[in-house]
Amino acid sequence: MDPTKYIFFTGGVVSSVGKGVTAAAVGRLLKERGFAVAVQKLDPYLNVDPGTMSPYQHGEVYVLDDGAETDLDLGHYERFIDVPLNKVCNVTTGQVYAEVIAKERRGDYLGGTIQVIPHITNEIKRRIGQVAKATGAEIVLVEVGGTVGDIESLPFLESLRQMRSDIGRENTLYIHVTFLPHIGATNEIKTKPTQHSVAELRSIGISPDMIVARSDYPVGEELRDKIALFCDVERRAVVPMVTCDVLYEVPLLLEQAGVGDYILKRLGLEARRQPEWEGWKELVEKVRRPKPTVRVALVGKYVELHDAYMSVREALNHAGLAVGAEVEISWVHSAELEKGRGWEAVRNADGILVPGGFGTRGTEGKIQAIRFARENKIPYLGLCLGMQLMVVEFARNVLGHENANSAEFDPSTPYPVIDIMPEQREITDMGGTMRLGLYPCHLQPGTRAAAAYDRPLVHERHRHRFELNNAYRDELEAMGMRFSGLSPEGKLVEIAELADHPFMIGTQFHPEFLSRPNRPHPLFVGFVRAVIENHNAAHTTTLTYQPEIATDAER
Ligand code: GLN
Repeated sequence: MDPTKYIFFTGGVVSSVGKGVTAAAVGRLLKERGFAVAVQKLDPYLNVDPGTMSPYQHGEVYVLDDGAETDLDLGHYERFIDVPLNKVCNVTTGQVYAEVIAKERRGDYLGGTIQVIPHITNEIKRRIGQVAKATGAEIVLVEVGGTVGDIESLPFLESLRQMRSDIGRENTLYIHVTFLPHIGATNEIKTKPTQHSVAELRSIGISPDMIVARSDYPVGEELRDKIALFCDVERRAVVPMVTCDVLYEVPLLLEQAGVGDYILKRLGLEARRQPEWEGWKELVEKVRRPKPTVRVALVGKYVELHDAYMSVREALNHAGLAVGAEVEISWVHSAELEKGRGWEAVRNADGILVPGGFGTRGTEGKIQAIRFARENKIPYLGLCLGMQLMVVEFARNVLGHENANSAEFDPSTPYPVIDIMPEQREITDMGGTMRLGLYPCHLQPGTRAAAAYDRPLVHERHRHRFELNNAYRDELEAMGMRFSGLSPEGKLVEIAELADHPFMIGTQFHPEFLSRPNRPHPLFVGFVRAVIENHNAAHTTTLTYQPEIATDAER
């Protein structure tokens, strides 16, 4: 299809009202109609990518097949649309300026004065243009981070404005996602902030073609009329989106509101096939259906901010839906465990999961939780750091190497069972220099991991600097650790598991990034199955390892 069509998503009033999910769901509507779609996120911050940012700042760093470290919204896009995205799908102000300044230093601008318009905006447009080429998308959805009125996002919005005249009205569509606040005292929903943000958008030259108005309360027809009138948008292009309890219902709600057909009409396109929503409806029904609840303790360092573990949470949900259980997460702060606090949640859990992480803080608490899982035979899933610490715990308490550690946390440990990879030693830059993206992993026959995958070869996404130290492989294996996943030449351990345990698996990669609502990840499914079995067997009877619990006075 030529030319490429573009749909731009901007946000108004406040952030965090689901612009990313809306864009992802619109992507699904279009894919269901037979179009190749991709989504791009434009992030206004100056970091080159979120890879160097604390999860407290920005939630999880989502990793793509090609190793790009991206905004967590790309996780929504991939989960909803189920197409692998490309590194060009996340652009930051930092990347744009770095490129323009590098060109200027090379003399590429031949003595010109470099300005935001046109040089920065041209670079932004060039990057938007790359998406169709890199992904083969016929319709490119572009989401601008932040809300209209932010100083940082102005060059992005200006670029989107220019694109309408560059490529034509019939090839561009602007969707503005806003929020309708509810005033408790008068029990009213207010449209004024939406009107203001549309006025702001107009003042920079963008007239929205559609307004998606998020609200925590039902929105009456008169409010819809009012938004249409005051914001000069067709009435059927005002889409109230009342907060729903099931994330994966959003595409169905947008479909019901006629969004898919309206977009096609505005872009002059004909649907190539009828959307098939049966699978999605079934998924939402499954979420709603009452199910037995099992509890997984997620032992991490950023647990106050659940967004920091977005994909892990989603992967647990997907697996729970597949096997008919509600997976409830107990968020456990690993540093608290070190102080003897928070153990109730670990002891009451049917399974324990240690996700990825960086830095020393809280690692000892995670190691204690892992020991608890191993000795009490509680299902355990370790993701990246969670696998590395599983090996450290085993070396300390089974091999008897008391000070065993990862060289990341104790560079002078006598037993560096996890160590820096040789090719990483010389690297001093922190950004984008880890082992990133998709790598093959061969499953070793007869192992639990192989049984869960039921395939001999898989490809999984990575984001780490440290590896299992091969010098300890024989020793670990002799005491019952099995290396159930290996790199093609067998040089790197990708998956470790314990032979004498119902389910204790650690992966050097991040399986959570490849879990999809209707394609749950096999290892998460295996884990949740084991969690359910453990729940049914009411494991609490014989706990052999009891951590030191702080007394009330110590707390
Ligand atoms: N910090 C560890 C490493 O760099 C683990 C990283 C992770 O969990 N993603 O290898």
